Amino acid sequence: MAGGNRHPNKEIRKAIVDAERAGWAVAHASGHSHRWGNVSCGRGCEVAIWSTPRRPGDIAKRIREAVRKCDHTGRGEPADND
Ligand SMILES: [Zn+2]
Repeated sequence: MAGGNRHPNKEIRKAIVDAERAGWAVAHASGHSHRWGNVSCGRGCEVAIWSTPRRPGDIAKRIREAVRKCDHTGRGEPADND
């Protein structure tokens, strides 16, 4: 990550780093107060990240699950299901 746009929550930050390692792109939505940004695999999977989530663990979990279930990156065989 370029730095400077780190999420305030440690748990979410770690999940974001894991997503990046899995080849996901992180988009930081500057100018939005509640939406921090999102992570996406670039081929259909996307998880929105809020700046001050009520339960940060839920978002971290959602990111991890999405990355784990995603079949679009890391295996060299792009899925075309939808
Ligand atoms: Zn995907």
